Amino acid sequence: MRRWCARHANLALVDVEELREPGEMLRILCECGDRHCTEWLAIRAEDFTDIRAEPNQYAVAQTHTDGLRVMRQTLDYAVVLQP
Ligand SMILES: [Zn+2]
Repeated sequence: MRRWCARHANLALVDVEELREPGEMLRILCECGDRHCTEWLAIRAEDFTDIRAEPNQYAVAQTHTDGLRVMRQTLDYAVVLQP
């Protein structure tokens, strides 16, 4: 599943980040289900921590929410719930 791959890549990306400071912006891969998607999202480190604290929540590009339940929109990305 592309979404799990993206999440896996993002977690690896975040885990290698050291010396992270509050408010620091991360660049993560869009976690929509499209395996051809290569969109990068800007997200605050603590926001991504909140999103990944919920196993069914994903960060996707704002225009990549087809078929997904949108929990909230920000200027840079949308938080969706996978059914
Ligand atoms: Zn996408």
